[in-house]
Amino acid sequence: MSGNEYYLEVRPRLPDVFSRLEELANNLFYSWDRGVRGLFFRIDPELWASCGHNPKVFLRRVAQHRLEALAQDTDFNLRYQEVLAAFDAYLDPSITSPREREVQGLDTDRDLIAYFCMEYGLHESLPLYSGGLGILAGDHCKAASDLGLSFVAVGLMYRQGYFCQTINRTGGQEIHLNPYSLDELPVTLVLDEQGEPIHIPVVFPGREVVVQIWQVTVGRVHLYLLDSDVAVNEPEDRPITYQLYGGDRRMRIAQELLLGVGGVLALRRLGLTPSVWHINEGHSAFLILERCREWVAQGLDFQAALEATAAATVFTTHTAVPAGHDLFDQDLASEYLWGLAEAMAVPVKTLLDLARSPQNRGRFNMTALALRGARRFNGVSRVHRDVAAQMESHVWPDIEPAENPLSSVSNGVHIPTFLAREWVNLFDGHCPDWKAHLDDTEFWQRTIQRIPDHRFWSLTQSLKSDMLSDLGERLGEQYRRNNFSRARIEGMRRVITAENTQPLIIGFARRFATYKRALLIFEDMQRLTRILGDPERPVILLFAGKAHPQDMPGQALIRRVHEFASQPSFLNRVFLIEGYDIALARKLVTGVDVWLNTPEYPLEASGTSGQKAAINGGLNLSILDGWWAEGFDGHNGWGIAPHSDDLPSDQRDLVEAQDLLDMLEHEVVPSYFDVGPGGYSRDWVSRCKASMYTVLPRFSAERMVLRYAEDIYAPAVAGARGLSESGGAGARELAEWKARVCAAWSGVTMAWAEQPPEATEGDNDAILTVDANLNGLSPDDVVVECLLTPDMATDAAERVYRFSARDEDASRGHRFVLAIPAPENGLFRMHVRMYPFNRRLQHPLEMGCMRWV
Ligand SMILES: *Cc1c(COP(=O)(O)O)cnc(C)c1O
Repeated sequence: MSGNEYYLEVRPRLPDVFSRLEELANNLFYSWDRGVRGLFFRIDPELWASCGHNPKVFLRRVAQHRLEALAQDTDFNLRYQEVLAAFDAYLDPSITSPREREVQGLDTDRDLIAYFCMEYGLHESLPLYSGGLGILAGDHCKAASDLGLSFVAVGLMYRQGYFCQTINRTGGQEIHLNPYSLDELPVTLVLDEQGEPIHIPVVFPGREVVVQIWQVTVGRVHLYLLDSDVAVNEPEDRPITYQLYGGDRRMRIAQELLLGVGGVLALRRLGLTPSVWHINEGHSAFLILERCREWVAQGLDFQAALEATAAATVFTTHTAVPAGHDLFDQDLASEYLWGLAEAMAVPVKTLLDLARSPQNRGRFNMTALALRGARRFNGVSRVHRDVAAQMESHVWPDIEPAENPLSSVSNGVHIPTFLAREWVNLFDGHCPDWKAHLDDTEFWQRTIQRIPDHRFWSLTQSLKSDMLSDLGERLGEQYRRNNFSRARIEGMRRVITAENTQPLIIGFARRFATYKRALLIFEDMQRLTRILGDPERPVILLFAGKAHPQDMPGQALIRRVHEFASQPSFLNRVFLIEGYDIALARKLVTGVDVWLNTPEYPLEASGTSGQKAAINGGLNLSILDGWWAEGFDGHNGWGIAPHSDDLPSDQRDLVEAQDLLDMLEHEVVPSYFDVGPGGYSRDWVSRCKASMYTVLPRFSAERMVLRYAEDIYAPAVAGARGLSESGGAGARELAEWKARVCAAWSGVTMAWAEQPPEATEGDNDAILTVDANLNGLSPDDVVVECLLTPDMATDAAERVYRFSARDEDASRGHRFVLAIPAPENGLFRMHVRMYPFNRRLQHPLEMGCMRWV
């Protein structure tokens, strides 16, 4: 052919009966509802696979005769009607779905939650994510829809998404940016009353950047994606939202300004008035400044505006890696924030101060901004909460990290999305109301235990077989493209094939970031060779994952794994599969026997891929970090204790690798291959069952969102209401009080008025008396309290007693007295302390001030 090439697309015309297929293709309900996906599959299985499970593309390519034939097919029509009925029932607000829950303290019709995140991983057909953060955000939206919350999410419309990965012959990661055609994505442009795209102008240095809004429907909730590719923008501004985590710092701050500031403006333009604003990781923290600006426009001064804003703001931090925090040079930040500062009549320095952090002097730290502009904060596992509390303790300088206001909500995964169809079918058949019991631990224990072992085993093996068949094709394509020899391809095909379910298959797939230590298992090569190479008890290792294009050490990891996979001793024992995405993740987590995770403790904030494996009956073999530190119970997998406290890092890797290989060699492999009469190991199946029933109810996104709703959103709604009523009168009062306390606090002192008693007897009260110089504050502005903890019992609860103010005497200041009713006999540790207190605070220790005697 010569000359220019043009495309002509011939689109099918949907028979009338199938008109609602369009609707199904436009609601991400399909990302977790197997019925909808099954429908597309049945129309044309090959086409469904070849268009990457994208229903919109599918409906544009499907053969007309196929549609016409199916229109006459009674079976198909019946199924179609069933799927539509389920879809309608899910969307109908008057029908209470089994997954809806009573949410304590939240009016789920009125209290709108706005959720902001840089990435969303909902389905492979909408590639707006790079890793765990995005998948988590997607799962959060899905669970919010299931629970029936009033919920709206905001993100950016990346026309080029994140990159697609191939791995070349030498193990180099190759990056492919696909400009998506937006009419092939499940997104709809939001139009105004006149049918024109809504344009939201955002103030940028010396100009405005306009964004338009795309709507994604996720079950019953909406995700709005902002897009700068609008003709009225300067040519250099149009690509701002093209790529997730692409570009330099200037590009990043521009994206984050659009997300934070533009996101608030967009929700306002759509007439939405959220009660709570959830910043999911620091990228979107600029929303705080825009909301302060709104309050200033309504007449509050900046500090009062910050109080009103912060009380309604929730911040979840996701990274325990210091380098993972988003930083900008102050000059760059000043340039972009100048307009906002001017609109609020404050110096830019005031805004820069909100984002300062001692570890990054002179830089603008988005995490610090989020911490100062929110009043409810959490880490994503118990271990991570403690790490974050330590890392961020500078925000509450006098408070012990153990006690500062950072709380914890452990991450979870959306069960309907990540539970394999075979399990769903099994539960549908045996206990059709299982979706109403997602967080019921006893229900799951009972239900899973009742499945006969042989049935459980054969189901896991059939999922494994599906995975092998899928991976065989993927690897075949990858090897052929890289011109691997026939022998190499055939060798792979003999191992990675649906029939070969006998080997123990271990999966490791996640972003290739150095702290995740993908190479840990290779620390002792000889030993690993021995374990993998046993012909009687074969073991296979599967790897997949992307490294950020600018992360050179991450890409070096990929190259190393590639080299191991080609090395004779590991040939056909170690495989590296390219193109990790949510579809490949689903295959791997449902098909492998063991899920391996070996992060450097305590840097894995939570990790969720291991949860996906466990709910499908896989066993985790992982460092006790993140979620696994609380999920592991001794029987439901294997936990490797970290040696970060007792060993330097180079020795630690070696020792942890030895522990890992010990477990693999002496526990995992023997248990798996201890095959009994039914052709399987009873010990293995018992562990897999335990993995499934312990993890599923405790680490679901449904449970996670319920915890956010009841423990964080509900109090935020109440707290923010108290400050915002009457034009923000409460916020003004609180800001004034805080200013007074800050000015006085350095001069506040406290001392014993009388030496405390060393002992008391029987039912005599112990009397404690302290004198405080409050430096102009009143006794009502502080709390003086005594903490008593039994000296012997390490886990005993602390008891707290509050002092009462007595009288004031110019010479000794304020006297506070406490009579402690005698507790049970014994020795107690006693501490007395004072901190500023106001009933309008969102957390008693929010000021970060404390005095001890
Ligand atoms: C679940 C998931 C992740 C998160 O994996 P971690 O092991 O928690 O890092 C990343 N990418 C994809 C595609 C996932 O599905």
